[in-house]
Formats: sequence, C-alpha cells, structure tokens
Amino acid sequence: LYLKKIEIQGFKSFAERTSINFDQKITAIVGPNGSGKSNIADALRWVLGEQSIRNLRGNKMEDVIFSGTEKKKPLGFAEVTIIFDNTDNFIPLEYSEISISRRMYRSGESEFFINKSPCRLKDIKELFADTGIGKEGYSIIGQGKIEDIISSHPENRRLIFEEAAGIVKYKLNKQDAIRKLDKTNANIMRISDLLNEVD
Ligand code: ATP
Repeated sequence: LYLKKIEIQGFKSFAERTSINFDQKITAIVGPNGSGKSNIADALRWVLGEQSIRNLRGNKMEDVIFSGTEKKKPLGFAEVTIIFDNTDNFIPLEYSEISISRRMYRSGESEFFINKSPCRLKDIKELFADTGIGKEGYSIIGQGKIEDIISSHPENRRLIFEEAAGIVKYKLNKQDAIRKLDKTNANIMRISDLLNEVD
C-alpha cells in the first residue's frame, strides 16, 4: 500500500484543482515560505478525518476553505481526495486503488467518500484501523513533533511508543476492568455485611 496521489481543490491556498503524484520512493516538496507546503500535509490530515481545527493551524473549520486573494474570489467548498495503490491488498477491499475524499461547505457539514461512494467518517477510521495510517497514526509527523519526542519526559516518551505499538487501547481496557472489579468487590463486601446483619 502506498499513497499515489493527492488532489486538492478549494482547500486553504489551493484555489485551483491541484494534483500531486507521489513516487514509490521519496518525494520532496520545496518552495518559498508561505507557498503552501504545510497546507499539503494539512490536506492529508483533514481528508483522513481531522476534526480539530487547531491541528490544521486555523481558528475555525471554515478556515480550510480558500478564502480568496486580490485576484480570486473565495470558494464555497473545499475538497481533498487521496488515492492509495492497493495492489498488495493491504486494505482488505477488492480494489487495486482506494480513494478517500472529503468535501466541506461553508455551512460546516463534511461529506466523506470511499471510492466515490458516500460513507461515514467512522467507515474511513475502520478501514485504516491498525494500519498506522490515519490522523492518530504516526504516518504523518508534523513540524515540532520530533523535538517533542526527543525532549519529552521519559514517561511521556514511553506513552508515544505505547501508542505507536497499539497497546494503549489494551491499557484502557485493563483500567476499565480494574474499575469494574473494585466496584464488584465493594458490592460483595456490602452484601456480606447485610448477610451478617440478617444472621
Ligand atoms: P513555511 O515554509 O513558512 O512553513 P509553507 O510553504 O509550509 O511555509 P503554508 O503554511 O503551507 O506554507 O501556507 C501558508 C499560506 O497559505 C499562507 O500564505 C496563507 O495565506 C495561505 N492560506 C492558508 N489558509 C488559506 C485559506 N483558507 N485561503 C487562502 N489562503 C490560505
């Protein structure tokens, strides 16, 4: 599985429909400050379901829609599509290409699509669960993240590794089970007190 292409239209600085093809090897995107390089990474995060505008470097969700320039009028919606090559069947769908799209209008509602069929965000999350792809996966490393990892407290760093290893959900399940056990133990104690009273 690899990311083959991203198509961006009306998202942040990309007013015109723009396609970027990624090679199987390394693709570097270069350009002057403020030319929109980071907006491409934002588009990737957004199409994978990012719901926090702070993580997309904006103030309100509408900020992801092209807001116009001196020469160009603002647009009414933003749309991003990413296309994965799935010839290795890494994603268990019978398609050699999988596309994920998100469209959002100024009213705020988002539409999601898998291979052009409307779907829920949940379907996209499920499709990529445990693949390392997704907004919580470590497939997108933002500016400053490496510094965070290096400079963080060892315990926090351990959390990052636990998250990457996919064991955080088991830790949460364990905490849940311990809480239930504690509650049950307290109930048992209460019942045995009541039984003693009855005796
Ligand atoms: P640097 O090298 O400084 O990190 P960059 O190439 O990563 O820069 P970005 O941060 O991706 O640049 O792009 C910033 C540009 O995107 C700014 O010029 C900003 O005006 C423009 N921009 C952001 N949101 C919108 C929007 N909604 N409509 C139009 N332009 C936008």
